[in-house]
Amino acid sequence: MAVNIQAIRGMHDVLTDQTPHWQYLERMIQDILQRYAYQEIRLPILEKTELFERSIGELTDIVSKEMYTFEDRNGDRLTLRPEATAGCVRAGLQHGLFNNSTPRLWYMGPMFRHERPQKGRLRQFHQIGVEAYGMAGPDIDAEIIMLSARIWAELGLKNIHLQINTLGTAESRRHYREVLIEYFQDNLDALDDDSRKRLERNPLRILDSKNADMQSLIAAAPGLDEYLDDESAHHFATLQQLLNASGLDFEINLRLVRGLDYYSKTVFEWVTDRLGAQGTVCAGGRYDGLIGHFGGKPSPAIGFAIGLERLLALVATENPEKDIINQPHVYFIIAGDKALPVALRLAEDLRNSLPSLRLLTHCGGGSFKSQFKKADKSGAELALIIGETELEKNTVGLKPLRQKAEQTEIPWQRLAEVLRQHLGL
Ligand code: ATP
Ligand code: MG
Repeated sequence: MAVNIQAIRGMHDVLTDQTPHWQYLERMIQDILQRYAYQEIRLPILEKTELFERSIGELTDIVSKEMYTFEDRNGDRLTLRPEATAGCVRAGLQHGLFNNSTPRLWYMGPMFRHERPQKGRLRQFHQIGVEAYGMAGPDIDAEIIMLSARIWAELGLKNIHLQINTLGTAESRRHYREVLIEYFQDNLDALDDDSRKRLERNPLRILDSKNADMQSLIAAAPGLDEYLDDESAHHFATLQQLLNASGLDFEINLRLVRGLDYYSKTVFEWVTDRLGAQGTVCAGGRYDGLIGHFGGKPSPAIGFAIGLERLLALVATENPEKDIINQPHVYFIIAGDKALPVALRLAEDLRNSLPSLRLLTHCGGGSFKSQFKKADKSGAELALIIGETELEKNTVGLKPLRQKAEQTEIPWQRLAEVLRQHLGL
């Protein structure tokens, strides 16, 4: 019986024509993170379900309907992480990373959410995120926003815009919540089912609704700015000054929210109009209450996460001309059993002398003709050829594959130098 097993819907294979784009993006972002002296943390992909229920909260879309949760063989409830902030805080508390220390961390990897798959919305997607702990002031807010801005700049992206808002403290939001509940209650007919469910428990979240029919209602809702506490207002004003001083453009979006109590003060998103409905490429904010909520010594924190699939899609539309590496420089054609050990040794010698050389040695034998075909298909610029004739003379044939040119003969000891010149290594 033929089996026909396909990947799970919304979980994509990244094939070899795409991996170079991923590698480019990952290297470039990691390089920037290193230049800001952020340190990488690697976290498990599976965590106890409780971690997410307690950190993200039962009232959110993620916990109420998007998590991949199951019981393992011991009957423990486990969840494939839908995001990494919770795991990062868990790890920080478990290992005492926040004790007398203000770590600036980054992570990268797959996240899992059972959403309806569509463009820019997958069930396994990837994030690079940063989390900075123990710093309460707007300076660190400005830094991580500048860091994210540098990523877009160095990727050559222009159509990506910064929106910021402040959520104030949990106390100042309490009053606003009531005003908001009242406003939406007066307009109950205009609310969809989801929003009605959120009305009493999490009214701020209604502001985040993607339902087109509700946008005018949301736009006319009272803003949190009127209920802001002085300290948060000052924090927000200073952040704006710092961003202005660094020359960053931004827009204040009073509808930008996170629905949970331990989020506070700064929230921001980087959005683009080039990707259709899924236009948020990066989302971040302050979560000063979360560590305390987990029973740790209260400590401020701020972070962001970039959705890499969306970022890649944006790079592809805006700046496809990149230095993408997907081909060998050289394809080594090897004819005959006698030539094989010599060829493999020569190949190793070349890799020693030319560390940036991308050299593909032919394996599997076959005629010159069939090997030349493969060499051509590989995209290599040059073929090296060794058979009985070359072996006897201690030489290798060299043939350019991308322009018309004769095959020349190169003595072994000159090979590295000739390749270096040919390829500009
Ligand atoms: P959205 O409103 O688009 O559902 P979110 O608020 O759930 O996003 P966050 O939890 O803030 O998203 O995640 C940060 C970033 O991760 C998003 O801005 C987005 O770029 C990316 N992201 C989130 N969910 C998905 C997904 N299902 N598929 C692809 N990328 C995603
Ligand atoms: Mg979502």
